[in-house]
Amino acid sequence: MTCSCQVLSQMNWDYGHLLNAGGKAVTAAALTDAQISELCRQSVAYADAKTPLAPAKYQQRLAKLMYGVKEVDGKPLNFKVYQSDEVNACAYGDGSVRVNSALMDLMDDDELIAVIGHELGHVANKDSMRAMKRAYLSSAAREAVYAAGGVGQLAGTVLGDISEAYVNAQFSQKQESNADEYGFQFAIDNGHDPYSMCRSLEKLNKLSSGGQSSALAKMFSSHPDSAKRALKMRQKADKLTGKNTITN
Ligand SMILES: [Zn+2]
Repeated sequence: MTCSCQVLSQMNWDYGHLLNAGGKAVTAAALTDAQISELCRQSVAYADAKTPLAPAKYQQRLAKLMYGVKEVDGKPLNFKVYQSDEVNACAYGDGSVRVNSALMDLMDDDELIAVIGHELGHVANKDSMRAMKRAYLSSAAREAVYAAGGVGQLAGTVLGDISEAYVNAQFSQKQESNADEYGFQFAIDNGHDPYSMCRSLEKLNKLSSGGQSSALAKMFSSHPDSAKRALKMRQKADKLTGKNTITN
């Protein structure tokens, strides 16, 4: 999982909240967590408006699985399942979690909770917030916001730039590894199999090596040590349970 949301690339952004009273673009130093959260919130609202929801049984399964999981890092969580053939899930810095139906079809409950735990790890570790901030700062959007001095003129011009930067902003191996650790513990804390995280990673790894087309699988396979990540989680589960499930 590299946790990129393809839907972000088609987004029109509203920068009104990023302009100060004088209409000047917010600088790196001045970009507050609240503003980044607002960017996330608007991203999700945009995606929600554009993406069909999966049937009720998907929402119910997810709601049941996440029952009792109310917040991460002080951020209230909200969950939705999108109808999509793309195996993907995404957690935003504001605590919004969006899961695609194809991912839910692929994973059993244990694996699914581990994957979501992994995503929540990026929120807890503030990776999601940093990625959004980087996307904003690295794009030409800052200058454009300044030049345009407003919001309306920006849609469809440089707005694709920042969203593309966000989509392409991959988390580091260290961040992914830390998110795996979070997902591992998250599954256990919620009463699931200690092997949940490794099983989900193994499944994704298999999917990507099987040549199946999905953004997640492709991105997952682009990490040279994706198999190592799965193995590390299996070793961790073996250590915890006292078993030896590693056969080769
Ligand atoms: Zn990740």
